[in-house]
Amino acid sequence: MKKFVAILSFLLSLFFVVPAQKVNVYERPLQYERSRDYDAKHYRIALTFDLDKKYFEGENRITLTPLRDDFKECLLDAEELVVTAVTNSENMPLQFTQTDKLIIVHLSKAYEYGETVTFTVKYHATDPKVGLFFDEESPTNPIMVSTVSWPDRARHWFPSYDFPHDKVTNEMIITVKNKYKVLSNGKLVSVKEDKKNGTKTYHWSQELPHSTYLFMLAIGPFAVIEDSLGSLPVTYWVYEKDVEDAKWIFKKTPHMIDYFNRLFGYEYPWAQYAQVTSPRMGGGAENTAATVLGQGVIHDKRAEQDFSWERIIAHEVAHQWWGDLITLRTWSQTWLNESFGTYSDYLYTRHDKGEDEGAYDLLRKKNRYLQEAHTRYIRPVVFDRYNRPEDNFDSHTYPKGAAVLHMLRFVMGDKPFFRTLKHFLHKHEFQAVDTHDFMTAIKDVTGQNLDWFFEQFIFKPGHPFFKISYTWDEQSQKIKLKVVQTQDTSQGIPIYTIPVIIGITTPEKKISEKVWIKHKEQAFEFSVDKKPLLVRFDEGNYLLKEWTFEKNMEELLYQLKNDDVIGRSWAASELAEFQDDPMAMRGLKDRAQNDEFWAVRRSAIETLGTLKKKEHLSLFKETCEDKNSKVRVAALGILGNYEEPELVSLFKKQFIEDDSYLAQAEALRAIGKCGDRSHLSFLKEAAKMESPRNVIKIAADWAIKEINKT
Ligand SMILES: [Zn+2]
Repeated sequence: MKKFVAILSFLLSLFFVVPAQKVNVYERPLQYERSRDYDAKHYRIALTFDLDKKYFEGENRITLTPLRDDFKECLLDAEELVVTAVTNSENMPLQFTQTDKLIIVHLSKAYEYGETVTFTVKYHATDPKVGLFFDEESPTNPIMVSTVSWPDRARHWFPSYDFPHDKVTNEMIITVKNKYKVLSNGKLVSVKEDKKNGTKTYHWSQELPHSTYLFMLAIGPFAVIEDSLGSLPVTYWVYEKDVEDAKWIFKKTPHMIDYFNRLFGYEYPWAQYAQVTSPRMGGGAENTAATVLGQGVIHDKRAEQDFSWERIIAHEVAHQWWGDLITLRTWSQTWLNESFGTYSDYLYTRHDKGEDEGAYDLLRKKNRYLQEAHTRYIRPVVFDRYNRPEDNFDSHTYPKGAAVLHMLRFVMGDKPFFRTLKHFLHKHEFQAVDTHDFMTAIKDVTGQNLDWFFEQFIFKPGHPFFKISYTWDEQSQKIKLKVVQTQDTSQGIPIYTIPVIIGITTPEKKISEKVWIKHKEQAFEFSVDKKPLLVRFDEGNYLLKEWTFEKNMEELLYQLKNDDVIGRSWAASELAEFQDDPMAMRGLKDRAQNDEFWAVRRSAIETLGTLKKKEHLSLFKETCEDKNSKVRVAALGILGNYEEPELVSLFKKQFIEDDSYLAQAEALRAIGKCGDRSHLSFLKEAAKMESPRNVIKIAADWAIKEINKT
């Protein structure tokens, strides 16, 4: 699952404040894993759909085994379904009662533990509110049916035991008008046409067990693009008009599956991998073998730089292992699906786009968590207090857990970490798991007990805040590094034990040394031959942390030019302290123009932008030509803040010539900040332009409003 999150950019170091519990998550009710008295084995779901009437009818033939003796009644989850009959395996009617949430089937006899029970529930439904959606044709989608069974909404389209710890096999036998196509989980067994009735019946079979929230169905006049990875069918189901864009948007999918096959050491488990677009999805839902993606995945080529969905596509592919093959037992364990999915999409980005983009992606994830920690709440990653399962699908579950996995990999080492992932998948394939299963998998593979790590980062809230400083003693040729953990421990945040790499660069050599942080305050000594050019805390950026590290300008300037992208960006923001020093300003200007990585160029101009000095105007104008649209967006935003009317012609030119929708939108906002009423007609004309997520119109309307205020 990927909820749609707008891409935010913000400063690397947030000011340290005590994490505010603006939302008291501890007031939420305590939730336990559900108890059950049977194990569902197979659902044979046969439904006939009328898309015009938004109606479907049919049955679910349920096979289960009791988990106790004297099993006489079977409770099924069912909402918005009208049950008309329940029959046993001899087609004899069974008594049943239905509430707004349940069907209680009164079996014809008492069954014993381990026996097989089969019965059929016949039902119909009209246009359910959730779970299964009927959509009429629109400019973005054909007439269609799509489902969102996650997290507990399968029960809105078929009666079932609807909780993730029960895994079942299933068939989906769907009859529709013959102009429609049907996609579901598993493999397509047959398509039978009934010419007399003008219908087709699609028979899909999911022969390996999975959880009900992963059941899916999509019906519509789709165009199906066929691709493959070896013998594995890979398909893309889209609106006919989207075919050409879908071809390039989805084309890396087989490559992603192949990459994860090798990385996880477990061959993709399902019979196919399909992706279908739906207007009912914000991000994506990783249904077994058939992911549903939001309609926003489709865009023209020029929008790719602004609105790429590649990470989401990779994220849902990774869920085929993390979530679908092994599945959270209960909703307190969301990180086992989402942090692993999110960490996997980082790993793919790192693999596909290189080290710098990977490092920046991880930083972005950490910042998303830090933003939630600072503005909303902190909670343990494994958390059993929630009103609805969705409550736990937040920035603790997605990015924090992903950052914690990255730290765990650092603590364990690459080979033991990936060996453990492989073992965890093989040991628990087709099962539901909890965090202790993962902790045990680590012990199985490495012999190491890492419970202390989980205690700190998974079962307790918060993260470390390090205050770092050092002195260089010429005489003894020693660096004394002081590390203080300053996090507020009153809310259950611990004093952390964690290794960290200290990097020291002198004119002669480079040292990297791993040390262990274990106390609130610690000092470390390093012998070096010369005064250091750079002392780096957490070289490699493995830790999820906040930090301050007071440095003089010379060191920051050295770091700005010579460190990795995270260190260079950080140094750029720290240099704001030296705004009156021409050397600092020259260093920043140089990086704004010449750094090879866009995020460093952007950090440099953002720092200069906060100073709002006239002398930097020409630099910002120049960076409006940067080859990366994100840098141009930042430059336009900064220029707008100058509120100089003579800049409007530049913004207009930028709007007309820039190939990035977001840069165009920023140019319009800048006109709003600098322009007067004489530019309203330009803005009104601009507002008519079509753009993804309407970013151009929204920006133009904002600018018009801004000008009308004056
Ligand atoms: Zn997800």
